Amino acid sequence: MLASLRAALADALALVLPVACAGCGAPDRAVCAACERALAGEVVVQRLAGGMRVWSAAAYDGPVARVIAAFKDSGATGAAPVLARALRRALAVAAADLAPVADRRLLLVPVPSAPASTRRRGYLPLAVLARAARLPLARALRHVRAVRDQAGLAAAARAVNLAGAMAADRSVAGREVVLLDDVVTTGATLEEAARAVREAGGRVLGAVTLAATPLQRAPHPSSPAPIPSES
Ligand SMILES: [Zn+2]
Repeated sequence: MLASLRAALADALALVLPVACAGCGAPDRAVCAACERALAGEVVVQRLAGGMRVWSAAAYDGPVARVIAAFKDSGATGAAPVLARALRRALAVAAADLAPVADRRLLLVPVPSAPASTRRRGYLPLAVLARAARLPLARALRHVRAVRDQAGLAAAARAVNLAGAMAADRSVAGREVVLLDDVVTTGATLEEAARAVREAGGRVLGAVTLAATPLQRAPHPSSPAPIPSES
């Protein structure tokens, strides 16, 4: 309750007090033009170890990382319109790339936040974003057991932590699904979400995120960078 009150208060204050850019602190804008440009570069496309394609609006570093973190964890909902534009752009590239393999209208399924994070924040960042982007979401996924906070866990530990953690309802049965998340790090969360959708009879064509961590931008097997195993 406190978190939602804080978020509401931050929104109300932003209307009457000077605003600072969530990415760089520049005055007067929730996200300044320079930081918005950082979110408007080339869409990052990568393949997770399990084969799933992921389209991300930007690399998760610098002002992009700060804007997303402020939006997710500090109630900087004024950044929603800018982030929504970035999300729509990544989704448009994904839809174009998927057009040859998608038979029907894609179902957009958001990866659920852990219940503890939702309680702490008091709002659902992806839901706020989807509303700002006017994207219809099918909230078919839910957590079926508690998981540890993923932060600080290595890739293999993340996969173990998440195995069997989610379930999808029957609304995904027979549908072509694109998963939606804010940031892809190791891909363990997306892999678990995809497993749950497939188990409920859905076909996962890929995932769209706001940002991708630098580690995930070099997924080619011959890359010298260490690639975490998702299995
Ligand atoms: Zn800025």
